[in-house]
Amino acid sequence: MQSALRRTILITGANKGIGYVTVERFLSESTPYDIILTSRDVKLGEKALTTLQSKYPNSTSTLTYHQLDVNDEKSVKNLVASIKKSNTKIDVLINNAGILFNNATEEQKHLTVKTNYFSVVNLTEKLLPFLSDDGKILQVSSLLGQLGIQGETLRNALSEPNLTESKLNEIANNVTKLMDDYKPVGPFTEPSYPASKAFLNAYVRHFLPSKVKSTQQIYAIHPGWIQTELGGPEAPGKLEEGADTIAYLTGLPFVVNSEINARMIGDRKLMEF
Ligand code: NDP
Repeated sequence: MQSALRRTILITGANKGIGYVTVERFLSESTPYDIILTSRDVKLGEKALTTLQSKYPNSTSTLTYHQLDVNDEKSVKNLVASIKKSNTKIDVLINNAGILFNNATEEQKHLTVKTNYFSVVNLTEKLLPFLSDDGKILQVSSLLGQLGIQGETLRNALSEPNLTESKLNEIANNVTKLMDDYKPVGPFTEPSYPASKAFLNAYVRHFLPSKVKSTQQIYAIHPGWIQTELGGPEAPGKLEEGADTIAYLTGLPFVVNSEINARMIGDRKLMEF
């Protein structure tokens, strides 16, 4: 019976920001979940865990912690080994961890693409064997990843009708050579962040669908422009609002809806991506 089934959620980068308030949202809801909160810094993650556990002592959900630095292969391996050993099936994988540097150096541009794109793909694919048959993958992307926002050079490269995954990865590796014609959007002047999310969107649109089962759901999400360290203080969205679309998609039936599957969702609605 669907209602008796406890769903397991694994979320990355949940010691602060949107990840943290998303866990808080789940704990405060009546639906019981088994939540695995992860963070790259153990102290920060354990602090988040104890703060949330003491704030919601009567939650119907359980909360456990696992260290995870998405850029660290050893850390990813440890997480996967632990999931395997405990025979855990993940029902909802929320790839939330992300970074943005303003006026990034060349090295920071590559780190942005690694964290927001390559490491998301890597973790997703390492965890695919442990995703339930009707599981969901929520890739926290951004409105800034929309194709139309990228500079013409990158937009054209990503719009190639014969784009393959290895071509996409080649583009992502050469990102610093393809962004000269990026036009800043509002206060976001740094092109590597939009590019990294455009790569993630391309993966959701073109390549992830054939890697999951026809009963599994995948989404790119724009959580809104939210007041976090990454979003900045002038963002119009309050921190709690950043959890809304993620919680909404988590709460939808575990049945594929082809009208929204493999698309980008923001403010609970379909968006161009
Ligand atoms: P924050 O900076 O508040 O939080 C980012 C989280 O990601 C932190 O927990 C951070 O950990 C973690 N993180 C960064 N690098 C790694 C890594 N290598 N491994 C594991 N965790 C890591 O940002 P937000 O909460 O705003 O962002 C969450 C997601 O939402 C991101 O993917 C972002 O791109 C997206 N987003 C945010 C928007 C906004 O307006 N805020 C708008 C659109 C999308 P640590 O504390 O250790 O740095």
